[in-house]
Amino acid sequence: MARAEERPVLAVDLGGTKMIIALVSRNGWIIERHYWNTVAVEGPRAVIERVFEGIDYLLGENGLAPQQLSAVSIAAAAIIDMREGIITAAPNLPDWENIPLKSIVLEKYGIDTYLINDADAAALGEHRFGAGKGLNNLVLLTLGTGIGGGIIIDGKLYTGSYGGAAELGHMIIVEDGPECGCGNKGCLEALASGTAIAREARRRIVKGEKSSLAELAQGKQDDITAETVYLAAKDGDQLSLDVITGAARYLGKGVLNLVHIFSPDMVILGGSVARMGDLLFEPVRRIVGEQAFPLMAKSVQIVPARLGNDAGVVGAAVYTLEH
Ligand SMILES: [Zn+2]
Repeated sequence: MARAEERPVLAVDLGGTKMIIALVSRNGWIIERHYWNTVAVEGPRAVIERVFEGIDYLLGENGLAPQQLSAVSIAAAAIIDMREGIITAAPNLPDWENIPLKSIVLEKYGIDTYLINDADAAALGEHRFGAGKGLNNLVLLTLGTGIGGGIIIDGKLYTGSYGGAAELGHMIIVEDGPECGCGNKGCLEALASGTAIAREARRRIVKGEKSSLAELAQGKQDDITAETVYLAAKDGDQLSLDVITGAARYLGKGVLNLVHIFSPDMVILGGSVARMGDLLFEPVRRIVGEQAFPLMAKSVQIVPARLGNDAGVVGAAVYTLEH
């Protein structure tokens, strides 16, 4: 058996639609990874069973017993009480309320188990092995179905009092703006997430505005996603360009607030929406350049994430190594 300090971490990235289960080495390399569908609608019990099946599969494939792991670490799209190891709430995982996931996993495998918010994990991963390597202070936003956030201060993950800190997607940008999944109105997530981009495009098409998206979706509004809006924008569709620029301006305001609060060395934008590249980054950089205090604007880089889909599992593994 490998010496304790060489044992891999079994890391899980538990998202609303898919989960990644991976074996990660102590230096952040992914030894093996698999994707599964979360099927979140089936509720916590079924999802946890699926996580166990995934873990068992990976252990079996690699001829490992649980005791040959250094830990199990689960990054979840959830508000996590890190002291107690409880998932207190999860907007994209129906019925996950006060689920003591840490003790459930511990009971099953009998080894050290950690829980961490998925965007916090991504921030840790990017800080140790990605875009923000070696920097003291950084802020990360994951732009996907929702908007997650992670904050590194003086090289350490900032988790707040219980682990719930950095819900940066829920900073309110527009008073009485569109409704957010959290129940408030005008959150950054309700204005600049992939969901928000698709919704705004649909709203304007239903209103009768012209767009190549309307033909693309052939009347099926549900087929309009942030991805199709991006593809249409790249083809020169004006409505799609406007919608993305609008979302990018809200995002710029959010990033401007974060720059003023944290004056970080770097703001990292990750997640599927960040793959829109310059369409998104240019307005954000311009707003920060024009509206932030010059000292802060000059000292912050605004860059894309580097670890892609692996950020969550790599970060979850990093987190265990530091505890
Ligand atoms: Zn919100």
